Amino acid sequence: MQTLMEAVTYKNFINNKWVESSTGNLIKTVSPANTEDIVGYVQSSSEEDLNNAVEAADKAKKAWRRMGQVARGKLLFKVADLLEAKVDDIGKTMTREMGKTLPEAKGEVMRGVDVLRFYANEGLRKEGDVIPSSDTDALLITRRTPLGVVGVITPWNFPVAIPVWKIAPALVYGNTIVLKPATETAVTTAKVFQCFVEAGFPEGVINFVTGSGSVIGQKLIDHPLLNGITFTGSENVGKIVAKSAAERGVKFQLELGGKNPVIIAKDANLDLALEAVINGAFRSTGQKCTATSRVIVEEGIYEDFKKKLMEATKKITVGNGLNEGIWMGPCASESQFNTVNEYIQIGKEEGATLLMGGEVLQGGEYDNGFYITPGIFENVTLDMRIAQEEIFGPVIALIKASGLEEAIEMANNTKYGLSASIFTSDLNTIMDFMEEIETGLVRINAESAGVEYQSPFGGMKASSSGAREQGEAAKEFFTAIKTVFIKR
Ligand code: NAD
Repeated sequence: MQTLMEAVTYKNFINNKWVESSTGNLIKTVSPANTEDIVGYVQSSSEEDLNNAVEAADKAKKAWRRMGQVARGKLLFKVADLLEAKVDDIGKTMTREMGKTLPEAKGEVMRGVDVLRFYANEGLRKEGDVIPSSDTDALLITRRTPLGVVGVITPWNFPVAIPVWKIAPALVYGNTIVLKPATETAVTTAKVFQCFVEAGFPEGVINFVTGSGSVIGQKLIDHPLLNGITFTGSENVGKIVAKSAAERGVKFQLELGGKNPVIIAKDANLDLALEAVINGAFRSTGQKCTATSRVIVEEGIYEDFKKKLMEATKKITVGNGLNEGIWMGPCASESQFNTVNEYIQIGKEEGATLLMGGEVLQGGEYDNGFYITPGIFENVTLDMRIAQEEIFGPVIALIKASGLEEAIEMANNTKYGLSASIFTSDLNTIMDFMEEIETGLVRINAESAGVEYQSPFGGMKASSSGAREQGEAAKEFFTAIKTVFIKR
């Protein structure tokens, strides 16, 4: 039995002050590992709070732009140091609030630190280009300029890394921000935000408002003073964001769902492939947008791989991620737990065979938590919902392919296009896969999740819209180009 830990309360941060919402109401966040563990409270904000935040960001944008990239970058170094010093506390809060295991949670915080240092260094990198002009008495240059006020809306599955990889580039490239984090994990994100606050940004540059997505999130995306929206979350909400932004000519960036395939070719290193499938499908309880959800195996090795996969899956220990020896935590919320259970049911009704797992764990340490064992379906046909829709949980659809051409066709047979992997030792197969696969992230002999932060991140088809996130590519979204012609 875990002893209950302290619950903390966070206010909104608007115009350089922590302030209570005008509603006077709070939202409680609880641990999905044990709903009796109250992680904390955040503000249930009003439209007035949101307006105050956007207006503060709007007022601050000119001075922030003119402060210059070098000085802005220096502030991010401070945030990185502050976040690094809190890795244990924020990691633990994340495990309590979201359910992923402690090593994974701490790893995510450290990823946030690395991302901050990357963008801090961006402060010293170039802001434009010199282009040769046909007029020898002229200078033709491009200059990057910020968008202005950017609305940042984030999901619960990476409550540190996603807010950081959006806010850090937004700020270094000169934008002011209003962050509306996912309510389920708002305490974890508030603790990260506090590091930005402690670093000492000028008034109005960084703002934090919590509340329901359909009320506060919607007000944020519809706000007339907004110049850009960066959103990561579900496809349904992504469509709402796109419509609102497009109607008003506001620049937007969407990172949505995935149904990520892993192909295992006959000549693959099966041990390597097995480890990648287990990690890709079940780490973070399958709740990564890049999680492996379809495993497509060539006929000749199908039975052998299936046996190895089942043996390895059986060894996975499920429980409270704060405890040592636990490999997989609970689903992150009751609603996510219900969704996963529904898909297990749907798979059975569609005629797929549930080889193992997909069972709800109850009794003892599992009481009051949203625990489910990792599940594997076989006899999955491509028209089934479990082969097409994002489950966002620890469930694999195991699919047999007669050859590599069919495997790649199967991999592409979904509306999503975020990440895809192949395991093979044949260079020709690698080249064909690279050419034919319809995903933004192409992974060779590597798991579908786990992209390095200095490289572009994003998908094709229904998975993403707008410019890529992360690395230098983030500049494309967070800035506009001014083409300047100067005549002597
Ligand atoms: P969600 O869409 O329910 O919520 C995301 C955010 O949007 C939350 O902050 C929520 O409060 C807010 N929101 C809800 N309704 C809104 C509205 N009408 N207007 C504005 N904001 C609103 O998603 P979720 O359940 O938090 O996250 C899971 C989803 O996120 C999955 O589909 C997953 O694939 C996706 N995801 C994608 C990536 C990626 O990079 N492609 C990364 C992580 C998660």
